[in-house]
Amino acid sequence: MTDPNVLASVLLRQSRLPFREARALLALSLGVSPEHLVAHPEIAVHPAAQGRFADLAARRRGGTPMAYLTGFQEFYGHALEVTPAVLIPRPETELLVDTAIRILPSRPGLSVLELGTGSGCIAITLALAQPHWQVVATDRCVQALAVARRNSSRLQARVALVAADWFAPLGGARFDLIVSNPPYVAEGDPHLSSLTHEPRHALTDGADGLRALRTIIASAGKHLRPGGVLLLEHGYDQGPQVHALAREQGFGSVETLLDLEGRDRVCLARWQ
Ligand code: GLN
Repeated sequence: MTDPNVLASVLLRQSRLPFREARALLALSLGVSPEHLVAHPEIAVHPAAQGRFADLAARRRGGTPMAYLTGFQEFYGHALEVTPAVLIPRPETELLVDTAIRILPSRPGLSVLELGTGSGCIAITLALAQPHWQVVATDRCVQALAVARRNSSRLQARVALVAADWFAPLGGARFDLIVSNPPYVAEGDPHLSSLTHEPRHALTDGADGLRALRTIIASAGKHLRPGGVLLLEHGYDQGPQVHALAREQGFGSVETLLDLEGRDRVCLARWQ
C-alpha cells in the first residue's frame, strides 16, 4: 500500500501560492506554528491536514484575504482576531493611534470615544498604550462588537463596548478625544470591486464617501470637551473636503496628516 502522507515541502511547492502564504496555511492545517515548518520542511502531512490545506489554499487563490483564513491580523504590534464581520485593520490606520498618543497627555481619566470600532483595533491599542485613559468604543453591528469584545478580553484591554449608531445612545457625555475610521469609500469607486470579502458597510457609506464623515463631524462638537480633539481617517483624495467640513462645523484648528506613503489620510481638528 502506498503511504497516504505527503511531505510538507512537496505540498508547498504544488500550492500555486506565494511561499509564505502557503507555509502559513499549511501550518494552520497541521496545528503547528509557521516557524515549526521552517525548521521541519520534511514533516509528513497526513490526509486530514492535506484536505484542510487544499481547502484553505483554494479559498486563498479565490481571493479570500489571509487574515480571514488565519483569523488574525497584526495591528500596532498586537494580534487582533478578525472575522468577515469586521474590516481587516490596515497599516495606515496606525496613524490615528500614533497621533492620539503623541498629542494627548497620558493624564489618568482622559476620556476617549471611538466610533465604529469593528475589530476594536483602535480602541484596544489606545487602551493598552494608555491604561489610565477611559476608552469607550461603539459599533452598530453586534457581530463586530462580539469580535471587539473577544479581542479586548484576550489582550486585557480596558475598553467599554457599546452598541450604537454613531453617537445615538451617548446622551450628553463629553470626551477629550473622538476617533474614527468610518466607511469613506464612495459607492461607485472601482477600488470596491477588489474588496468583496470585507463588510461593505465598513468600507462605503453607499453614497459619495463623505456621508459618515459629515455625520460624525456635525455631531462631534456636542460630544467634545473644550479643547477636545477629533481624529478621523479619510480617503487619500478627501483631505480638502474633510478639512472644510471641520472648519464649517466650528473647529478652531484643523490639520491634514499624511500617511507613510505621503497621502492625505487623517484629519486632526481641535474643538475651540
Ligand atoms: N482604507 C480602506 C481601503 O481603502 C478603507 C477603509 C474605510 O473605508 N474606512 O481599503
